[in-house]
Amino acid sequence: MKIMAVNAGSSSLKFQLLEMPSEDVIASGLVERIGYYNAVFTLKMNGEKVSTTQEILNHKEAVHLVTKGLIDHKIISSLDDIVGVGHRVVQGGEIFKNSALINDKVIEQIKSLSDLAPLHNPANITGIEAFRKDLPDVPQIAVFDTTFHQTMSEDAFLYAAPYEWYQNYGVRKYGFHGTSHQFVSERAAVLLDNKKAKIIICHLGNGASLCAVDSGKSVDTSMGLTPLEGIPMGTRSGNIDPTVLMLISDKENKSYAEVLDDLNKRSGFLGVSGISNDSRDILREMENGNHRARLAHEIQVKRIADYIGSYYVYMGGLDAIIFTAGIGENEGRVREAILNAVKVLGIEIDQEENQKRGERMITTKNSKVKAFIIPTNEEVMIAREVMRLK
Ligand code: ADP
Repeated sequence: MKIMAVNAGSSSLKFQLLEMPSEDVIASGLVERIGYYNAVFTLKMNGEKVSTTQEILNHKEAVHLVTKGLIDHKIISSLDDIVGVGHRVVQGGEIFKNSALINDKVIEQIKSLSDLAPLHNPANITGIEAFRKDLPDVPQIAVFDTTFHQTMSEDAFLYAAPYEWYQNYGVRKYGFHGTSHQFVSERAAVLLDNKKAKIIICHLGNGASLCAVDSGKSVDTSMGLTPLEGIPMGTRSGNIDPTVLMLISDKENKSYAEVLDDLNKRSGFLGVSGISNDSRDILREMENGNHRARLAHEIQVKRIADYIGSYYVYMGGLDAIIFTAGIGENEGRVREAILNAVKVLGIEIDQEENQKRGERMITTKNSKVKAFIIPTNEEVMIAREVMRLK
C-alpha cells in the first residue's frame, strides 16, 4: 500500500512515497523554484537520482510532474497505486487537536489560521489543492506541526499578556516540530519500555525546539506563537526582550517587520558568530579559536540547559533526554556540551557511544537520567497518520 507524504512550501514541494505498513521509502523527491522558468525537479529511487530543469509555473504543474515521473520511472503503474496522501500543515491552531481528513471545510479552517502562519499555511494549502485536483478520489490527510502540543495546559501555553489578545486573536504558544516530537517520543517510550516516561526531546536542526513529554503527551515546548520563540537556532534568535524591536527600529531606521526579519534570518548562530548558520562551520571555527563562534555555540548550549532544568522541575523528574534532527543526530560535541551542562541531574555520558551515529543510548547503565540519539522521521509519522485516518 503506497502512501505519499508531502511538504509544500511557497516555491517548493518535497515528497516521499512510502510502502505501508512496512514504512519503506520507495521514492522521494523535491521540486524547487516553482513559479520560475528554471525550476528543478529531483527524483530519487533505487539509489538513483535524476534531476531535470524546466519551467514549472505553479504547484499544480509540480504535482503533475511528480506523478508523471513516478509512472515514467515505473515506481507506480498508475495513480490508483497511491492510496492516501498526507500533507504537512504548519499551523493547526486550536481547531485541530488531531490530524484531519481533508474536505472543503477543513481547507477553509486551515485558511482561517493563515494570520498565525502567513508564510506557511497558504503554501501548504496550495500543495493540498494541487494534489486534490490530480488525485480527486484519494483520501488526503492534513498533519499539523502544532497538534502534538495541543495537550499543553493553560499555564504552559498562555502568555502573561492581556487575556483579550488570546481571546480575540489567538495569541498563545502553539509550538512546532510536533510531528517530529511525536515520532521520537513514541520511539523513546519503546526504548525505555515505559509508556509513562518523562522525557525531554531536543530537536536540533536549523530550526530547533525542545519538548517536555510526560506519559506520551507534550506538556511544554520551547517554540511559541511562531517558530521564533525558544532556544537560539541557525538564524533565529530564540527568546529576546521584545523592546529590542523598538530600539533597533529606531536606531537603524527599520520597520518592525524588518527587525523581525533580522531576528528570524540574521540571528542565532549566524548573527552571533558572523560566520554561518551551519553548526559544522561554527564548531570548526570554534576549534580554530574563533571567540564569536564559541559564543554562538555556548549561548545555545546554555539556553538549552535552561529549558531542560525548567522542564525537569515542571514534570517533577526526568527519565531521558533525546537528541534528534541534523545537529542532535550528528554532532557528538554538541550533545556532550549539553549533557555536561545538565550533569547535576545525574548524567554519565558513555563517550564511546556518543561518538557514534544512529539510534542508541549515549549514557552509561548507571546514569540516573538516560540520554539517547533517536533519528527523527516526520514522513513516516505523516504516513502513519494517513493509515490511521484514511
Ligand atoms: P532543518 O530540517 O531544520 O533545515 P536539519 O535537521 O537538516 O535542519 O539540520 C541542519 C543542521 O544540522 C545544520 O546546522 C548542520 O550543520 C547540521 N547537520 C546536518 N547534517 C549533519 C552531519 N552529517 N553532520 C553534522 N551536522 C550535520
